[in-house]
Amino acid sequence: MTASPPSADRAPAPDVDVVVVGAGLSGLTAAHRLRQFGATVAVFEAAPRVGGRVSSAEVAGVHVDLGGTFVGPGQDRILALADEVGVSRYRTYAAGRNVIRWRGDHRRYRGTVPPVGASLLDVGRIQLTLDRLARTVPRGNPAAAPQAANLDAESLGSWLRRSHASPAARELIAIAGRTTWGCEPDEISFLHALHYIHQAGGLSSMLDTEGGAQEEHFVEGSHAIAVRLADALGAALRVSAPVRRIETAAQGVRVSTADETVTARAVVVAVPPALRGRIDFAPALPPSHAQMAQRWPAGVLSKAYAVYERPFWRDHDLSGQGLSDTGPVFITFDAGPAHAGAPGVLLGFIGGVYAREWDELAPAERAARALSSFADLFGPRALDAIGFIDQRWGAEPWVGGGPTAAPGPGAVVPYAGALAAPVGSILWAGTETADRWTGFMDGAVRAGERAALQARGILSSSSTDHEQTGVVR
Ligand SMILES: Cc1cc2nc3c(=O)[nH]c(=O)nc-3n(C[C@H](O)[C@H](O)[C@H](O)COP(=O)(O)OP(=O)(O)OC[C@H]3O[C@@H](n4cnc5c(N)ncnc54)[C@H](O)[C@@H]3O)c2cc1C
Repeated sequence: MTASPPSADRAPAPDVDVVVVGAGLSGLTAAHRLRQFGATVAVFEAAPRVGGRVSSAEVAGVHVDLGGTFVGPGQDRILALADEVGVSRYRTYAAGRNVIRWRGDHRRYRGTVPPVGASLLDVGRIQLTLDRLARTVPRGNPAAAPQAANLDAESLGSWLRRSHASPAARELIAIAGRTTWGCEPDEISFLHALHYIHQAGGLSSMLDTEGGAQEEHFVEGSHAIAVRLADALGAALRVSAPVRRIETAAQGVRVSTADETVTARAVVVAVPPALRGRIDFAPALPPSHAQMAQRWPAGVLSKAYAVYERPFWRDHDLSGQGLSDTGPVFITFDAGPAHAGAPGVLLGFIGGVYAREWDELAPAERAARALSSFADLFGPRALDAIGFIDQRWGAEPWVGGGPTAAPGPGAVVPYAGALAAPVGSILWAGTETADRWTGFMDGAVRAGERAALQARGILSSSSTDHEQTGVVR
């Protein structure tokens, strides 16, 4: 902590250089990099645990990731951070054929795009068109896309209908959208969908397992990365400490929880966009910032894991990846270790319209419905789980849903600029503010690193007045 005696011609030194609000991957990364720059930090986390949208549990002796799980090529910043803190990775099991339950039929296939009859060609046409349009949306500045206002005025769903996408193509995109944004195609701005796809390097990069964003996961789980960063912070981290108020003062900011007020030269707010609205800013944020917090709500995505004595589907040349046009689980992965003798783990996603109903059910009913979905895809042995767990992100008070914000039509052009634009000494992080891999863990890390650099700029420019700062310029 910085400390120097106040004098008549100099303001008292702040308690720390930078306060970070939120100890998800983004806030923890920002704090970690700031300390590496030589800055002092205080990190406030509202929940009793760190990690935010990454969390872990043990079921029948097996580790599972309840939130962010997979990583893939091009996600360089999360991969570098994991290496830095010593969390290793393994490849997602993807050998063999995938299964699809579609219009009452049960089929096996290879690759990402399932055989949906004559519609296969149409799926290819829609994918090519989405990828081509996505490349026209500048990363980090969607409002600068050609026809941005028109693209923002419609939803992904209305564009699919206007493009005469076949019912099967529409349903497959809906499945991808429920997993990606936790909402239905009619609920998401088409401009946002295109921007998101471009940031992730195209639809294949976003949706594929081998060579795509589902290629690997972490041996100890993604939450281990957050825990290692948090452990290094020691007393600089306070959990169960929601930030309630941020006041901008002449020399910086005053950040208050119910129990404590800390002064700093800058604050990095690393919470999901909608949760910015729960902090009282004084003076009030510019109107576009306040409106953005209301218009960028979280999607709804829940997860279910079933653990088995062994991954019986692998014996039948099945990868564990499945798709279904009936819920509640509509997409599955084999989330178990690849080595022989390990237990089997099926991961199922429940998102969008299915999650809204699912999240209201009693635990036993959720387990029964998830196992029944797994059995529809992999046969009756899927009912014989030795362990089950699910996670409803909409029920997490300081996250509010998942996997990421899902702005509706009309919410991007006027408000996307407010996501990351600093307001004086108030800086913004969180995956939604990233200009690559927004919505992913990689985006969270990138945004935290960008905010740390911005904070270092503020500290450097004020260090002539406050020589006590240890920041390396
Ligand atoms: C079901 C699910 C599956 C996912 N799958 C993947 C995946 O496979 N791969 C991938 O890359 N990503 C995935 N993601 C997304 C990924 O988890 C997120 O992008 C990432 O973890 C977001 O990190 P963050 O730090 O930006 O935000 P968060 O993790 O939301 O962190 C924000 C933190 O701020 C805290 N907070 C909020 N308000 C306050 C306040 N007033 N004061 C103090 N603290 C506050 C919250 O408690 C939280 O800890 C998934 C997410 C979910 C939910």
